[in-house]
Amino acid sequence: MIQKIKGTYDVYGDLSKKHDYVRKLFQAVCESYNYNYIETPLLERSELFHRGVGETTDIVTKETYDFTDRGGRNNTIRPEGTAGIARCILENKLYNNLPLKLWYYGSMYRYERPQKGRYRELRQMGIETYGSHNPIVDAEVISLGYNFLKELGLKNIKVKLNSIGKSETRNKYREALIDYFKGNIDEFCEDCKERLNKNPLRILDCKIDGDKDIVKNAPSILDYLSDEEKEYFNKIKEYLDSLEVEYIVDNRLVRGLDYYTETVFEYVTEKNEFGSIGGGGRYDKLLSSLDGPDIPAIGFAFGFDRVISEIENEEIKLNINEELDCYILTVSENESNFALELANKLRMCGFKIDLDLTGKNMKSQFKEADRYKTKLVMIIGEDEIKNNEVTIRDNITKEETKVSVDNIVDYFDVNL
Ligand code: AMP
Repeated sequence: MIQKIKGTYDVYGDLSKKHDYVRKLFQAVCESYNYNYIETPLLERSELFHRGVGETTDIVTKETYDFTDRGGRNNTIRPEGTAGIARCILENKLYNNLPLKLWYYGSMYRYERPQKGRYRELRQMGIETYGSHNPIVDAEVISLGYNFLKELGLKNIKVKLNSIGKSETRNKYREALIDYFKGNIDEFCEDCKERLNKNPLRILDCKIDGDKDIVKNAPSILDYLSDEEKEYFNKIKEYLDSLEVEYIVDNRLVRGLDYYTETVFEYVTEKNEFGSIGGGGRYDKLLSSLDGPDIPAIGFAFGFDRVISEIENEEIKLNINEELDCYILTVSENESNFALELANKLRMCGFKIDLDLTGKNMKSQFKEADRYKTKLVMIIGEDEIKNNEVTIRDNITKEETKVSVDNIVDYFDVNL
């Protein structure tokens, strides 16, 4: 038997109901903030991620699914959503209509070591906001994600927040970190040894070395921020306070992608079992690094699979509507066509209807009705057709009523 690829999983049964619920709630929250849906291809030119996400990131150096297509071009199956959306904005000149407020959902692919909360096919949902460099926008973006998690019913959520400054600040800080770490580099893991000169900020959030005292006592980026960057960061905190977002400033938060400038943040849970459940930041130089105009931007992505795991960890009961409005039973196959026509009519009016079209006996059909947790059961036999009416049974009180077919929609409107 052919089995699924390591690091992927199937979504069916109860899990698919949870996926559906969470995605729809995210859509509703994004729409309430006036975000529009965007979808870009799963396949992009490899160069996009090398230039966009960054040559020195773990994602690009170790994790992308790259292949040469039959025409000899280098393609990559997307590892994240931001770079593809930036490409789409440039190619279609969407920046002529700023601000842009976009939300997305989709699968991403990273060749990571699979474990709980870490997959090779991961789903992300996120937002991208283009067109302003203003702390109130940072606060609005951060609070959108926070409010979504609150609406899901999650209780143990906090936002970790940091500013990594603009490139001038980061360059000074980089030098300071190299100076600080270089005498002790032998103590570090192989990855951090490599990072020292290429990307020393990443040593701060290394999963292996991050908890060592030498890392904890490293210089803080916050001491390197310019007055303007400090003021910007302080304003974000003020706005978050007034929006009642619970955050913690974490000066070692740097995030794994090269495109971030100034604001970076993560949504974490109390147990933080498998890392953050979402993360993002500002990327004011992303479009210009892809030869586009200089337009500031900010966004985040939730690890969809991790949101689902957290719902399970916190034993949140989602308000999933599984009930049918009505299950239609037919005494014999002679009534099937009549039943199908009625089902059609009611479905077109927006009711959730099902029926058996395979000629099961009445007992099995009643069982089926219970399995679907239907509110009403409609019974159609020879007599009903003759009188142009149906019998409707309330599936809880078991009370039965005859209703004329001509009044059926009104009856459903009033009783459901
Ligand atoms: P990133 O795109 O790396 O900034 O990650 C954003 C979010 O995606 C993280 O906070 C995680 O929740 C999630 N994520 C990243 N990598 C994985 C993975 N391999 N499996 C599941 N979720 C992931």
